[in-house]
Amino acid sequence: MANINDFNFAGVKAIVRVDFNVPLNEEGKITDDTRIRGAVPTLKKILADGGALIVMSHMGKPKGKVNPKLSLGQIKDAVAAALDAPVKFAEDCGKAAEAAAELKAGEVLLLENLRFYPEEEGKPVGIDKEDPAYADAKKEMKTRQNEFAKTLASYADVYVNDAFGTAHRRHASTAVIADFFDADHKMLGYLMEKEVVAIDNVLKNAQHPFTAIIGGSKVSSKLAVIKNLLDKVDNLIIGGGMGFTFIKAQGGNIGLSLHEDDLMPEALSVMAAAKEKGVNLSLSVQTVCAQEFKNDAERQTHDIFNIPDGWEGMDAGPKSLENWKKIILDSKTILWNGPVGVFEFDNFAVGTGEIAKYVAEATANGAYSLVGGGDSVAAVNKFGLADKVSYVSTGGGAMLEAIEGKTLPGVAAIKGE
Ligand code: AMP
Repeated sequence: MANINDFNFAGVKAIVRVDFNVPLNEEGKITDDTRIRGAVPTLKKILADGGALIVMSHMGKPKGKVNPKLSLGQIKDAVAAALDAPVKFAEDCGKAAEAAAELKAGEVLLLENLRFYPEEEGKPVGIDKEDPAYADAKKEMKTRQNEFAKTLASYADVYVNDAFGTAHRRHASTAVIADFFDADHKMLGYLMEKEVVAIDNVLKNAQHPFTAIIGGSKVSSKLAVIKNLLDKVDNLIIGGGMGFTFIKAQGGNIGLSLHEDDLMPEALSVMAAAKEKGVNLSLSVQTVCAQEFKNDAERQTHDIFNIPDGWEGMDAGPKSLENWKKIILDSKTILWNGPVGVFEFDNFAVGTGEIAKYVAEATANGAYSLVGGGDSVAAVNKFGLADKVSYVSTGGGAMLEAIEGKTLPGVAAIKGE
């Protein structure tokens, strides 16, 4: 694998997979350009070296069909402004050989939405998984995906992947394409490198005590994460809606709180595994409850094992926060995924805000902290603490799969793993 920092792109054509899946309003105007800004360091490095850029991305879910509402043509000017360079646009990403060949040093060619081609995702379209012909259709689509990746690869001398958000998918532009470049001509972009280093800092090189804070709504969506972390952490804090399944499984009265009955046996086995492995599993002991799921509902604080009928736990109570504060401030490595309450409602965001503060304080005292995966990122942003933690991951699903211990195809294809 080559290294972007050491690579000299002078006279080189680079095809870069970025994540320009930015939100657009009704008029096709970008409402949040974070993702474009995220890719700028990689793209500017290539241009500054004297390279030519072919930039490719997906946008939304066009499901293998052309959809003008999801055209990357709409963001061409924003990309030009971000790079301070003129940007040409290839309306068909699968037929851009000529435009790519004409590209000169310092020039940028933006390709149309990769997912207008079903080959990008490589899933057969218009055929049910139960259909006996599905296996053949899948095989045929894999061949087509390979051809599509080969076509994209033919546009350039070097492949750079800077789209961490899609690193957990084996798509034509995120993984398959890498097979058409040798190890010296493929590399991770700066953003992707940062994400990979952040994951390694917690999963491979963690300083101890290592604490994971896992919150959010459902045990089912985080079970794989919890299981993988049990072999790595010293402390596992489980909060938010998912905590109630653990309390009910132990015979607690949780009132109307969120829970998953079918996962109660799993919750008990996680508790047993934690004990066996010497992991300090810290569940919530007290919760702020409401009778209605709304911001201005009346609030009452209850012991988590004795929530009255008709009430539901919506936020972490002060006693839970006191326990968690101590654990977090004693930690050298912290991984946080998922809010510990319904933080979208300001009146029930107190617990999540406190956690964000403790993580920031521990970081200021020298701990390494990674906040990643979906809503916890929104939470640190809500409390203005994003720059007070060591790293905030931008790749929700990819980060979660990495924490589950899965290999990310987009990373593996470049590292040659
Ligand atoms: P997730 O996507 O699994 O990380 O879950 C995030 C969601 O969990 C947020 O929308 C929170 O509002 C929700 N959540 C956290 N705590 C609770 C709770 N006690 N009751 C209901 N929803 C919760």
